[in-house]
Amino acid sequence: MASDRTLLPLARARQPLYAGLDLGGTNIKSALVDDAGDVVAFHSEPTHASRGPEDAAARMGRAVHALASRVGVAAADIARVGLGSPGPLDLEAGTIVRAGNLPGWDGFPLRDRVASHAGCAVTFANDANAAAYGEFWVGSARGASSLVLLTLGTGVGGGIIIGDVNVEGAHSHGSECGHMIVDPSPAARMCPCGQPGHLEAYASATSLTAMAAEQLAAGVGGTLAEAVAAGEQLTPILLAREAERGDRVAHGVLMDAARWLGIGIVSLMHAIDPAVVALGGAMTFGRDDHPVGRAFLARIRDEVHRRTFPLLAERTSICYAGLGGDAGAIGAAGLARLAHRGHSG
Ligand SMILES: [Zn+2]
Repeated sequence: MASDRTLLPLARARQPLYAGLDLGGTNIKSALVDDAGDVVAFHSEPTHASRGPEDAAARMGRAVHALASRVGVAAADIARVGLGSPGPLDLEAGTIVRAGNLPGWDGFPLRDRVASHAGCAVTFANDANAAAYGEFWVGSARGASSLVLLTLGTGVGGGIIIGDVNVEGAHSHGSECGHMIVDPSPAARMCPCGQPGHLEAYASATSLTAMAAEQLAAGVGGTLAEAVAAGEQLTPILLAREAERGDRVAHGVLMDAARWLGIGIVSLMHAIDPAVVALGGAMTFGRDDHPVGRAFLARIRDEVHRRTFPLLAERTSICYAGLGGDAGAIGAAGLARLAHRGHSG
């Protein structure tokens, strides 16, 4: 499967080339990217997580070779490979510590096995950090000095880039913005990580559908209740559709998630003061192109404005991310480029 992104002809690519791999629970995306961040080749294939990590590592190595041969270069011409993986990770060891969507992969020497199959050094990164670097390098924060990216999907991922530094932390747990505490009250919702009150418990697809289901179970009526009673599956897509139609539960759940995101974003702004806060991931409701996406972002901005300093409210850009689902692969290639240029390992 190819990306819908326009590919740059190799003749116009700026050397050297880097390969980026974005390992997800469902798909592995790979991109061959030039020195300016333009994509010259793209590939996506199912992860087949149940086949185990060695099988996937071998296929990721083959994908790097396939990308090279597709544009007529030798794999040896690829300067370095970047690999973004679900975490938490042990970046020093090159292993996954615990990934909920890749059961049984914990402790596998993923970075080194992919390097062995690709025949090339691999830069290892958390997938959300890789996506953040992609947005920082050639996406929504291009030209900005710093970025926080929140990826809204099954969970809430986070990436923080400050002046070409990917904030990984002392123990590979930096930028875990989804696990910031936003609600310390005894009634706080439980995060999938096992701790209460984290942002992910209020602003992920999982939590939105759970919150809507609770209201429906309590007997709140409306078009969402009717759709679910008629057999439709309760998903963020259904919530967005019914919110657009004016359903009270669907609209309320979306706006509540936006409010919690605003609260989390204010804490990030006060800790880091980033130039850009970008929102990416599957759960962005059509982004600026759709009324629900626009209302969601407006509610986030409104909450931020209520709670931050006037100067930050005025100057911090809060927007949707620009690279879509390719950000992780492009950003992984970008992190490989940084390592190749000697910024970090
Ligand atoms: Zn958590």
